[in-house]
Amino acid sequence: MSTPLIEVENLYVKYGNIEALHGINFTVGEGEIVTLIGANGAGKSTTLMSIAQLPPPEAPKVIKGDIRFKGQSILGMSPDKIVADLHVALVPEGRHIFGNLTVEENLKLATYARKDSQADIQRDYNRVYSLFPRLDERKKQRSESLSGGEQQMLAVGRALMSACRVVMLDEPSMGLAPLLMYDMFRALKELNEEGMTILLIEQNAKLALDFAHRGYVIDTGEIVAEGPSASLMDDPEVKRAYLGG
Ligand code: ATP
Repeated sequence: MSTPLIEVENLYVKYGNIEALHGINFTVGEGEIVTLIGANGAGKSTTLMSIAQLPPPEAPKVIKGDIRFKGQSILGMSPDKIVADLHVALVPEGRHIFGNLTVEENLKLATYARKDSQADIQRDYNRVYSLFPRLDERKKQRSESLSGGEQQMLAVGRALMSACRVVMLDEPSMGLAPLLMYDMFRALKELNEEGMTILLIEQNAKLALDFAHRGYVIDTGEIVAEGPSASLMDDPEVKRAYLGG
């Protein structure tokens, strides 16, 4: 079997004295859509923040285990390098866009560390606007005036403008009206079909398992079930605890 793109091995992390992850293991292969599902506080965001190597004070501290990208440990790598050199981008919960800047200014800021040509960058602007026509229509608008769903699209657009090949999404469905949610997941599917690797965390287990190829269930900092999405959806315990019976 080839080396997975991302390998999380026996990962323990803490915030101060609180241990949030107790030795989790999972992999993400190139081109896959993998989801981590679990309840509030299970450790899903902590896992993504650990991979993104977010700096303190936000970041959890890895105390044991490893995170590898194409077989190489990335522990201690700067968050900028994770984006610019590994092309791994995090779309955090709460979106973190600049509300006082326009849509197009937000997208432009995301390109700052790119080393490729202007033509490549222009191609990505066109891609973002074709995936999310609502952003195209609103490109001169201040981002704080966008709806929650449109802000979520902008957050994904920013990841694409950083030239990512792997996108990690923290609850992209949060607060979205059904129609916008459909648009969002249709766009993500299209990106995956073009080769984007996706690591998705979600409380909405049904949505996540319908979308992903494989999944892991995380419960209070431990992985308690894993497998192809279809078999997780058939698992009686997963059904009972996460899919509403
Ligand atoms: P949610 O869907 O509610 O965001 P989650 O599965 O993403 O949940 P995490 O946010 O990763 O869960 O939280 C995992 C554990 O770590 C929780 O017990 C949480 O209280 C704790 N935790 C998260 N962030 C911090 C922090 N900055 N300081 C201290 N503890 C934290």
